[in-house]
Amino acid sequence: MSQFWSPIVQTLTPYVPGEQPKLPGLIKLNTNENPYPPSPAVATALQAVPADTLRLYPDPDSSALKEALSTYHDVQPNQIFVGNGSDEVLAFVFMALLKHEAPLLFPDITYSFYPVYCKLFGIDYQEVPLTPAMEIDTADYVNQSCGGIIFPNPNAPTGIALSLAKIEELLIKQPNAVVAVDEAYIDFGGESALPLIHKYPNLLVIRTFSKSRSLAGLRVGFAVGHPKLIEALERVKNSFNSYPMDRMALAGAVASYGDEAYFQQTRKAIIDSREQMTQALEKLGFSVLPSSANFIFARHESYAASQLAAGLRERAIIVRHFNHPRINQYLRISIGNPDECKALIQTLTLLTSKH
Ligand code: PMP
Repeated sequence: MSQFWSPIVQTLTPYVPGEQPKLPGLIKLNTNENPYPPSPAVATALQAVPADTLRLYPDPDSSALKEALSTYHDVQPNQIFVGNGSDEVLAFVFMALLKHEAPLLFPDITYSFYPVYCKLFGIDYQEVPLTPAMEIDTADYVNQSCGGIIFPNPNAPTGIALSLAKIEELLIKQPNAVVAVDEAYIDFGGESALPLIHKYPNLLVIRTFSKSRSLAGLRVGFAVGHPKLIEALERVKNSFNSYPMDRMALAGAVASYGDEAYFQQTRKAIIDSREQMTQALEKLGFSVLPSSANFIFARHESYAASQLAAGLRERAIIVRHFNHPRINQYLRISIGNPDECKALIQTLTLLTSKH
């Protein structure tokens, strides 16, 4: 009955997230989730939410969470916007700050949700090719007028980080464009641009609790920037949904920020596993891009990525394979716990030893 669809819906090509199969024993390395549970303080905080309070709407301003985030990141609460996962925050960013006359710029190989938001909101965009080394070259973003710039740092799915000096140069050379830095994976190695928000009113940093805080299921994300940028996001939010953050999400997110030791411990475990996995894959004949994220992007010199992904799947391990021509020889593999990493390497050893 698609004749009932509005014209915009007829034109959409929605984002397809990595699958969430419910097979027992499956090793799931396809959506960059954290292999470790959230801090035990999160479970305690969730259990402490009185069921009776769920009758009541949550705080529309998410004040307690903004307070915790502002203390931790050394900014003011009015420099923070919070939302239902960074995907929702990003949607608001596209709508509120990145839709202008001139095209929005982002890399040709990047988070594949960006072009989807552009379609939804009618934003003109231009994809800027990564260099042959699969890196963002900021020089490619400065010699034209644009309606804004967005990229993840580290980039996804390459995992490669951009230096803070390069980001600062971009902010200086494009003072009239919002530069949105999607730091979904920053806690695994990159240098955060967050301290630069005090100096550059055109910088917006977007973060998530889904990766380094092990809370993909709670749906919490936030943005940090000049109060005027935040006000634009609040205006969109208050024209869309007064209560994007529910009571459980607020309680869990605040508790997570209260357990720094656990955060550091799990973050380090993932970084260590990533380094070990990179070495093991290189020994098997893979080229691995230098990753600062909780995943690696790797290609084998003699085996097709689609074939390896299928072989892994037959043995109950799922990784992500993209059908984009520039990257269809790569596999994106999330860093699992040590047992999962071991199983992955053992299976790939088997799959790359057959002739
Ligand atoms: N940005 C990037 C680069 C991502 O890879 C993801 C995860 N798919 C997100 C944002 C969204 O994460 P979430 O909505 O879970 O916060």
